[in-house]
Parts: sequence; C-alpha cells; structure tokens
Amino acid sequence: MPDTPAYVIKGKIIDGTLGPPIANGAIATRGERIEWVGEASALPESCRSPDYEVIDLPGRSILPGLIDGHIHISFGEARSEEELALYTPVEFRTLKAVWNARKVLQAGVTSAFDAATTYNIAQSVRDAIDSGMFEGPRLAVSGRQLTSHQGLEDSFPNGMEFPPGQAGVLIRSKDDLIEQIRYQVKDNVDAIKVSGSNDSFITPDSLDGSAFTYEEYRIVADEAHRLGRMCTVHARSRDAVADAARAGFDVIFHASFIDEEGIDWCLRNQCVIVPTLPLLVNAIAATGGSGNPANAGFQREVDAAIVNLGRAHQAGVPLAPGSESGWSPVPYGQWHARELQIFVDDLGMSPLQAIHAGTLGATRLFKRFGADIGRLEPGRYADLIVIDGDPGEDIALLQKPSRFDWIFKSGRPVDRTPPAPRRRMHYERHKMFLDGFYQYDEDEGRGVLRR
Ligand SMILES: [Zn+2]
Repeated sequence: MPDTPAYVIKGKIIDGTLGPPIANGAIATRGERIEWVGEASALPESCRSPDYEVIDLPGRSILPGLIDGHIHISFGEARSEEELALYTPVEFRTLKAVWNARKVLQAGVTSAFDAATTYNIAQSVRDAIDSGMFEGPRLAVSGRQLTSHQGLEDSFPNGMEFPPGQAGVLIRSKDDLIEQIRYQVKDNVDAIKVSGSNDSFITPDSLDGSAFTYEEYRIVADEAHRLGRMCTVHARSRDAVADAARAGFDVIFHASFIDEEGIDWCLRNQCVIVPTLPLLVNAIAATGGSGNPANAGFQREVDAAIVNLGRAHQAGVPLAPGSESGWSPVPYGQWHARELQIFVDDLGMSPLQAIHAGTLGATRLFKRFGADIGRLEPGRYADLIVIDGDPGEDIALLQKPSRFDWIFKSGRPVDRTPPAPRRRMHYERHKMFLDGFYQYDEDEGRGVLRR
C-alpha cells in the first residue's frame, strides 16, 4: 500500500448539490482530497494506474459524508439537567466525549456542529481529532451558551450558584455579553451561542417571549462577527427567532414558533435554521407517544414546528439537520440522519433536497472547513460514504450505517470496529432515591410502588 492512499470508487454519484445524480459515476481520491468526479466511462487515464484501489460494487451510491448540524459531544447521553450540570468530573466527561466521537464518525457523520459544550471539552475534542490523536468527525464548536435568567440553562433555583458544569454561562448585564464573547473567543470557539428562549424540557412557559432584547442580540451579533466568529441562537419562541434573525444571527436552532416576520428576517439576513426535532420526537416516542399526557407540550411544539418550518422551507429559508445527540433520547451514533427523514416526511423536501441539506447545505455552519467539505468535488476533502442502495429514493437508508460499505474521512477508510461497551460509573447519575412512592396497601398487606 503506497503512503498516499488513492481510490477509484464506482457507483451512483449524489454529490451534495441539487443537480441530478450521475447514475454510472466514479470518484477518484488521492491523499486527503478528491481528485476527480464524473461519468465512470470518462475516468482519466491518470486515475487508471495500479496506484488506485478500485471499489466497484453493484447498486451502490456515493455521497459526501453527512453533516450533523447540532450535537453535544460533551453531554455524555445525560438523562437529566442535573446529571449534565452537577455530576461526573470534567476529566471523565472529556474521555467519554472522545469515546463517543468515534461512534458519531462511524455513523457516517464526517463533520458536526457542537452547539454548546460543558467546560471547554468540545474545543479539546475538536483539536484532539484535528491533530490526529483520535478518530471523530471534524467539529465546529460553540462555547457555553450565553443565557439570561429567562433562557435555557439558568434552570436551577435562584440562591444557588450557577453550576460550573452547566453548558451555559449566566449573563447579568450588557457589559457581561461583550466580556463573555471575548473570553470565549480567547478559548477558541468557532461560534458564539446565545440561549434566546427557554425549553419545554425545563419549564412550561418556554414558548413565549425572549431571553434577551433585540438590542442585546445586536450587541452579540456585532461583537461575534467583529471577532470573526459565527453567531448562533437557541430560539424556540416566536420573539426570540424574529429578534435574533433581525439582529443578523447566522444560525437559528429550533425555530419551532417562527412566523412570517421571522421568516422574512431569515431571508433578508440569510440565516439557516437547524430544527433539531429528533430530541422531541424521540422523547415522545420513548415514553408512550402523544397519548401520554406528560408529552402534550412536546407534541404541541412538534406539531407547530412542522407547520411553521414547512412554511419557512417553502419561502426559501435554508434548513440543515441536527440530531441533538448527547442527550439520552438521542444516543451518539444512531440518530444523526433522523432529521433528514423528518425533512422528507413532514416538511415537503425531496430525498435529494434533504441530502443537500445534510451535506453541502450544512456547510453554512462551518467557517473553518466550510469550502472543503460537503460536496463531491475535486479539491475538497475526500469525506464520503458508500451505501448499498439509493438514499435518493429511500432517505431512511442513511439511518442504517450497517448498510454503508465504506466511510472515508480525509481519503482514508474509517475503522468501523465499534468501541468496546463500557460500564456506567456511579457518579454518572441523577440522584433520585425512587421514582415514585412506595405506599402501604392495607388490604394487600404489602407495599405498592405508585407514581
Ligand atoms: Zn442542543
């Protein structure tokens, strides 16, 4: 095997653009990069030398590696806010994050946006991967999200200190906003993230109002952009979406209650929306479905989001997929292409449009690497997947990494050996004595667990 890996892979080329696939295509890679893409019959003589390993299996499709627009590599599949913010030492979280990053890559996700970290773990995981120490996707990283008392992350009672393990930082004044952005840029984030609204998982009144004023969003957008960083926001409510989009934020996460005004600002300021519905959809499905009264709030948000985001898509606002992997309803390595299915089934995209959204379209979230990933095109990184079947016909195939023959990152096949299973440590917990009440039933003469 020569030092410089070189491959010719034949199959249906779905290149990440909205252009028609090439049915009998071929792609040549050399070193880290793509060298040539086109009709297999037109493969240049220079790519026919024995230096190239040829992969030619019937009925295969070749796509750019997937991009997940919303993960949390440091969250460790936490089961609750308490488990995330209070428990598990930072050192152990970091090692776990590296272990989990490999699972993300093995699902065909060659790049991902980390949308809020605990401590500065995501930056370190990003750099450890980039420096060649561990296998994982290319990461773009936002820091801890900037929240007010009305935003997601300030979820513990007043009177206790804001926990250092929380994936947010509490902002008390306009000066704090500027200071925190400069502080995080020094810690080498790729993006600033603001917690613009609360969340149905935390509070019943998450869907109204906004955690910051329009003027404050402007301060954030201007300062983040002045320092060359992207600007992103967790915004479920109508007001948070409209104000952040108007202030010039680059990425709106969720946008469940976006209205005409928000859509208009997204179009004017070229914002991309990452809905990240798998968390809600999975949380509902895992706990008895929409029939469970406890899920009514989640279901209301999903129903509204499907209508509102369908309108945004129709109006031309770009959407990119996110999985929210890092919380226990969306374990790493399993749900990264779930939102592509939602785009097709619920938001009116064709499979090809969904693939575009999850590849070339999602490069809008990456300043670094953005022009080097997401498309099968000469000169870009050879990050690609080879699949048995045609996801342009059946988008669900992308949720089955076992059907992927190959995953390439930087021109080299990814080791598909899954990480060995591990035990959960006692400090990875949320401290609940008993989920219910062990009441004494006098007739039965014994205890009965009642929730
Ligand atoms: Zn998230």
